[in-house]
Amino acid sequence: MRFCKEGGGEMIEKLGKNLIYKSEHVFEKLVDEEKKELEKLAQEYLKFLSEVKTERECVEFFTSILKNQNFNEKQLEKGFLVYKNKFLACWRIGEKPLTEGLRIIVSHIDAPRLDLKLHPLFEDTNLAFLKTHYYGGIKKYHWVAKPLALHGTVVKKGGEVIKIVIGEKEGEPVFTVCDLLPHLAKKIQGEKKLTEAITGEKLNLLFGGIPIKNASLENENKEIKEKIKLNVLKILNETYGLKEEDFVLGELYIVPAGPAKEVGIDKAFIGGYGQDDRICAFVSFKAFLEVEDPKHTTLVLFMDREEIGSEGNTSAKSRIFEKIVYFIMKGLKISPTPDNFFEVMSKTKAISADVTAGIDPNYIEVHDKLNDAKMGCGVAVSRYTGHGGKYMANEAHVEFLAWLLENWDKEGVIYQVVSMGKVDEGGGGTVSKYFASYGMDIVDVGPPLLSMHSPFEISHKADLYMTYKGFKVFLKI
Ligand code: MN
Ligand code: MN
Repeated sequence: MRFCKEGGGEMIEKLGKNLIYKSEHVFEKLVDEEKKELEKLAQEYLKFLSEVKTERECVEFFTSILKNQNFNEKQLEKGFLVYKNKFLACWRIGEKPLTEGLRIIVSHIDAPRLDLKLHPLFEDTNLAFLKTHYYGGIKKYHWVAKPLALHGTVVKKGGEVIKIVIGEKEGEPVFTVCDLLPHLAKKIQGEKKLTEAITGEKLNLLFGGIPIKNASLENENKEIKEKIKLNVLKILNETYGLKEEDFVLGELYIVPAGPAKEVGIDKAFIGGYGQDDRICAFVSFKAFLEVEDPKHTTLVLFMDREEIGSEGNTSAKSRIFEKIVYFIMKGLKISPTPDNFFEVMSKTKAISADVTAGIDPNYIEVHDKLNDAKMGCGVAVSRYTGHGGKYMANEAHVEFLAWLLENWDKEGVIYQVVSMGKVDEGGGGTVSKYFASYGMDIVDVGPPLLSMHSPFEISHKADLYMTYKGFKVFLKI
């Protein structure tokens, strides 16, 4: 900005440039070569996002790549560990002794969705439905009147594992939760609060509508009551060998059907389900594979159950992380005593790789324009999360942050240090506080999203690219 035309104008302009912080759009800084690399990464990510829609699918996708690249389960030098098919860790031993700490990136691979209830199937008024129970923080109205797919696993008594994906391939049917027509919705929905207009018990999936023929039954004279339900069960039995009682042994998830898409006339954005937090899972995995000779031992973790508060034995609150570090310590001939463990942890630097909210100008009243993340302005560093008076937050120490940002500056990583929303508007948490409790330095890092926790979350290709670059630099140093 030019202050005046004569007498010191130049100097003031220089001062402004030196002293005033201004966030810049990544695309204004990239050279052509980087733009090409960014586009390649975006296309790879689109494919991943379209294919992988559950934590099990994510673990399978990554482990098949690890095996191809000669990583072995539970091997020391280049190893990985899968726990309960829903948690994955992979590591590579670095040049420096473990007592100088690890470099850890941890993301989560679960996402909000609708789970089938234990006894989901019922017939009413010539329609067959599956009852659902939502998982994680959804806005229920997002899930009606749209094509949905079924992804999941059923384990039969005796141990047979049946994998099911319906609604993704050309020619396959999809499912849907019906919404009420506006003509009749005036009172029952229109006069209610948004959060009450559609209730959890109404999120029933339309599953079938053709009755079974009596001719196909042994006793033709006997009247079957629920003919549509029976026909649905017949199809499930013929295709997957399932009976109605097998639903109780199913982890069957309802997710948005169809592929992820580029969004915007300039194709700036990527739209798709589950980007919180599979965008971070994808880029941290890619960065991990590409840093082949790390200085410090690298460990990349993919957690489950983050969206419901990190409960259960595949979550960040489980002890599985300790087991992995003990394994590495023992392999490197360091006795895994509590004291040695804390020594290693106290030198460890970690990134909690998770998304944050991008400023949506349509809802500017909840954002702090000065502090929140801007789409396209680079990887976002959330120094703290939490709500109210920073409750439940892990706040990264500035000594650690200064180290990270200095290294990113050197390597041309474009970043923004941000908060999420105005004070007292709400808030959120990540897994960082659980890992911080071990004594390591950890900070939340990831791209901003629009429409977070919706079936069609939006990321910016520029932020995807800078998150990837940022993770790669972190794993190297
Ligand atoms: Mn998340
Ligand atoms: Mn989330």
